Amino acid sequence: MEFDLSHDQQALTRATVEFARERLSGLAGEGETTGPSLREAWRLCGEQGILGLVVPEEYGGLGLGALDSALAMEALGYGCPDMGFVFSVAAHVYACVVPVVAFGEGDQKRKFLPGMVSGELVATHCVTEPGAGSDAYAMKTRAERGEGGYALRGSKCFSSNAPVADLFLVHAVTDPAAGFLGLSAFLLEKGTPGLSVSKPYHKLGLSTAPLGDVFLEDCPVRAANRLGREGQGGAIFTHSMNWERACLFAAYLGAMARQLEETIRFAKERRQFGKPIKDFQAVSHRIADMKVRLEAARLLVYHAAWRLDRVSDGRPSIDSSIAKLFVSESAVESGLDAIQIHGGFGIMAEGGVERALRDAVPGRIFSGTSEIQKNTIARLLGL
Ligand SMILES: Cc1cc2nc3c(=O)[nH]c(=O)nc-3n(C[C@H](O)[C@H](O)[C@H](O)COP(=O)(O)OP(=O)(O)OC[C@H]3O[C@@H](n4cnc5c(N)ncnc54)[C@H](O)[C@@H]3O)c2cc1C
Repeated sequence: MEFDLSHDQQALTRATVEFARERLSGLAGEGETTGPSLREAWRLCGEQGILGLVVPEEYGGLGLGALDSALAMEALGYGCPDMGFVFSVAAHVYACVVPVVAFGEGDQKRKFLPGMVSGELVATHCVTEPGAGSDAYAMKTRAERGEGGYALRGSKCFSSNAPVADLFLVHAVTDPAAGFLGLSAFLLEKGTPGLSVSKPYHKLGLSTAPLGDVFLEDCPVRAANRLGREGQGGAIFTHSMNWERACLFAAYLGAMARQLEETIRFAKERRQFGKPIKDFQAVSHRIADMKVRLEAARLLVYHAAWRLDRVSDGRPSIDSSIAKLFVSESAVESGLDAIQIHGGFGIMAEGGVERALRDAVPGRIFSGTSEIQKNTIARLLGL
């Protein structure tokens, strides 16, 4: 086993942290923003190669694997305090770019990947429906065969990036009798007749990530815009979730590392009872717990990503589910610890400490809730 990062991996991490600090600073805060707009920041990430981390070079990407991309995402989460933006970027990369790379036909890759990589196109992944959340395969959106293609009818909710999206990766039922094998995936472009989106929701955390509903009223989609074979939608969804559960959650590692450093600094500076609060064991033990969670989470993410680079058998990855479950729960626990150590300042909006907790809470829900990860892990253990 080799735990050291290679020279290239260290360079990628350093360059991404520097990029995030220099180019994304002041980005879309929850109040006034002094940095680039979401679209500008998106293009900057394109220039930096972040949107094309896992895309072959022939389509403008860096051609890296899952582990390298996870390292870059961790560095982005560390260098950019706007987790809403980091989440938006990661959702685009892992839920939209990754399936096009894995399942796209040559023409589809040539048509869509360069824009998805450069930042010209923002993509959204549309699976969840009002009546089908954890039970995603109970979706009702239908894709009915017609002349030269399909007509899509239904509605999606909680789609990350939907309010600003140019490209919609939509899952729909092509054969209601076939269950998992009756789903197919489609690439719809903004402006498709019958396709509309809601305004962004107001939400507890990841507030700068635009999430919305997607409405499909008999949207015509050419057969050439079906991603993968008819009936392959379930496999495509599983593939995306395996990547998202490992690599998107690497961004939370970066956020947790930044939070840990800030909490240590605060504990050294803040004095009560005539000494720095770090000298109280109740405080230092809490910080030790934060460190242990971060290191354990990091190993789980790296291991899951490393496995993705080696095994791609189309089945749900137990390693990705374990990593997702542990990182998301740890980020919430460490977020609470950081607030407790910061005392009253911890819950003030100005400090950013409470925002990190709010950004962590949705992590227990998207990409499958914590309960669903435990169900998956149990199932893969034969239970
Ligand atoms: C920030 C954010 C971003 C998102 N982005 C996207 C996106 O880009 N695209 C997309 O398609 N969706 C997206 N989602 C939706 C997300 O995938 C769903 O919210 C999630 O799958 C849970 O579905 P639900 O909200 O309907 O909750 P429900 O499924 O209704 O669950 C409610 C509660 O019941 C529990 N529960 C349900 N079934 C079981 C079970 N079998 N065993 C034990 N407990 C169970 C759940 O764990 C949860 O605690 C996003 C959600 C969030 C919060």
